[in-house]
Amino acid sequence: MEYKKGTPVLIPCPDYRQETVRNALEQALEAAGGLEWVKTGMRIGIKLNLCAAKKPEAAATTHPVLAAELTRMLKARGAEVILGDSPGGPFTPALMRRSYEMTGMRLCEEAGGKLNEDCGYTEVTFPQGVSLREFACVDWMRNCDAIISFSKLKSHGMQGMTAATKNLYGVIPGTIKSETHFRHEDPMDFANLLVDLNEYVKPRLCLCDAVEIMEGNGPTMGTPRHLGLLLAGTDPYLLDRLGAAILGLGEQEIPYLEAAKQRGLLTPGREDEITAMAAPYVLKDFRRSGATSAWFIRTPEDRGLRKLEKKALYLLYRSRPAADRDCIGCGQCANNCPAEAIRIQKGRARINRRKCIRCFCCQEFCPTGAMKAKRSPVARLTGR
Ligand code: SF4
Ligand code: SF4
Repeated sequence: MEYKKGTPVLIPCPDYRQETVRNALEQALEAAGGLEWVKTGMRIGIKLNLCAAKKPEAAATTHPVLAAELTRMLKARGAEVILGDSPGGPFTPALMRRSYEMTGMRLCEEAGGKLNEDCGYTEVTFPQGVSLREFACVDWMRNCDAIISFSKLKSHGMQGMTAATKNLYGVIPGTIKSETHFRHEDPMDFANLLVDLNEYVKPRLCLCDAVEIMEGNGPTMGTPRHLGLLLAGTDPYLLDRLGAAILGLGEQEIPYLEAAKQRGLLTPGREDEITAMAAPYVLKDFRRSGATSAWFIRTPEDRGLRKLEKKALYLLYRSRPAADRDCIGCGQCANNCPAEAIRIQKGRARINRRKCIRCFCCQEFCPTGAMKAKRSPVARLTGR
């Protein structure tokens, strides 16, 4: 798969009406280099963000009208189009079908696309990986000629935000994602893993649904917020740099952007260009997820900190998960906790802090939004 670096673009898309979406997609694709690379018979995979089986208005998943219109455009060029994701939890055809129903993705079938039900995966090697040199890769994506990453712009507990780069965590199938979290508990280690997956897949195109974004308790139970934009580009890191600028987040606050930068993959010298592009849309009051892991991930050289000092500061500032009174004791969090740190006692989730690795999967799986990332007392006192 060819991989072309390019400046991301930002196109107004005020709503999800079919005509609005079509116009925005046409503009975005043209500005991002067009679709001339799509040839008849090519098998193109659209990697959606279907992190939870939720209705489109929850703003947790890629909007179906955007996915359907993109499908139509690819089909018009003679491509075979397959769409899917591998959310956390069991990776089964029945659960995928439920997700397609809830998220409205059946629209993509009407547009000529195929919704993936293949739950197979293959162990692959990636010798140049930093965190991930061997991993399980879902077959439906492996068998495509090109991948288009169609993400959603949202707040995220562990990584600050999720958009193009984080979207490719779905390369790893279902429950194996939890084990992978457990093996890569350090946020920078996990961030490098996300970069490895992007370097392995090398998405041909990245699109990001920023029409209705999510803020607060993201990536599944936050609050929808209107932004009215569609982001596009051929480089996931540059696209996410643009997304971070719009959300008012510093690059050093997003571990995977820091990892890409340290590896020389985040093109230097483009900061001013992207800041200027984002300026009219910056959300100064964007509500982050409560998990602030920002500052400590910077290199010791940057901050003049020794490893031990960095670790101590991390322990003081790191957020933790906690269930509030909306907890109904359903056990979803416990079932998906890679560290087995959660027990349901007296109808409520209790967390063993010594076991907890701060991956915030519990927050992602909680159906009521009761599980939240709580900032540490030091972080609150110092306004972090
Ligand atoms: S309690 Fe939550 S944050 Fe802690 S390890 Fe389990 S899923 Fe991850
Ligand atoms: S998933 Fe949410 S509601 Fe269910 S037990 Fe855990 S915290 Fe409580």
